[in-house]
Amino acid sequence: MRALTLNGDQDIRFEAVPDPTIERSTDAVVKIALCAVCGSDLHPYNGKESGYDQGMVPGHEFVGEVVAVGSDVDSLLVGDRVHAPFSTSCGTCRACRSGLTARCVHGQLLGWRQNGEGLNGGQAEYIRVPLADGTLVAIADGLSDITALLLGDVFSTGYHGALMAESGPERTIAVVGCGPVGLMAVIGAIEQGAERVVAFDLVEDRLRLAASFGAEVSEPLSQEALCDLFKGGADGVVEAVGSERSTRMAFDLLRPGGVLSSVGVHTRPEFGFTPVEAYDKNLTLRMGRCSARTLMERLIPVATSGRYDLEAIVTHRMTLADGADAYEMVANRQDGCAKVVLEV
Ligand SMILES: [Zn+2]
Ligand SMILES: [Zn+2]
Repeated sequence: MRALTLNGDQDIRFEAVPDPTIERSTDAVVKIALCAVCGSDLHPYNGKESGYDQGMVPGHEFVGEVVAVGSDVDSLLVGDRVHAPFSTSCGTCRACRSGLTARCVHGQLLGWRQNGEGLNGGQAEYIRVPLADGTLVAIADGLSDITALLLGDVFSTGYHGALMAESGPERTIAVVGCGPVGLMAVIGAIEQGAERVVAFDLVEDRLRLAASFGAEVSEPLSQEALCDLFKGGADGVVEAVGSERSTRMAFDLLRPGGVLSSVGVHTRPEFGFTPVEAYDKNLTLRMGRCSARTLMERLIPVATSGRYDLEAIVTHRMTLADGADAYEMVANRQDGCAKVVLEV
């Protein structure tokens, strides 16, 4: 088959790799129809995460059709159209039973291989998915391929961020960083009944999208001015970037007793605030990988309700063969891009 491979900093190639096959009785192989480049794919691409095996197939956002199942797969049949969260989960361990599928004791990230172990990802024509019963979800009626793909990561992760920020009635929620996940956090906070949702980003196109989903943004003001105006007013902040600067900004936006919900993937060892400052603000900090397998099923009614145009975040459609250009576009935020999907 052909796939994208990562071979070092900014080195994405579209090339022939071995076909995935059923290796264990609980595996499925999926023929991919649509995949996407995620913000977190940029960390190894830009050299901020290292240790991966050169030549691995990256990517964890995809939809497709089951073409083979192992003998112990019960819930899926060849021909089923499926979507997937970004990590595998068994569905039966204690973490999975409690809904924390992101921390399944048998779970692995899709699209990460290190020292010859791990899983190739979904920026490919085919993918092997272990623990298929606990990982893959048949695409519900009325769900488009793109919406199904967004449910597997960005929509679930944004919604998870809004949940961790305790979005709800009479609460003011700020969203720091309006990339795809931040935009989905805006929708999550509104869906969860937040009274005010205020969005922050440096890119005007992204603020416009946030406004279209119902966030307050103040376009004539610079981000600094908006931040000053709003300082200390948020009950909860969803931090969807993962930098020291963005955690500092999130911290400054919070009122005493506020909740900082951090869903950005951090690649630096420090937060933008100190333990003393956190103590002096009676801060609640929540962070961590979204249990997308649990949320993606729960969110199907929201995704199919027609209340939100989730697909509006997909600004570019390209093909798998254009993968190197797609990465460059996402990395450099060219041409107002938010989410880039690749047809396979
Ligand atoms: Zn992703
Ligand atoms: Zn499990």
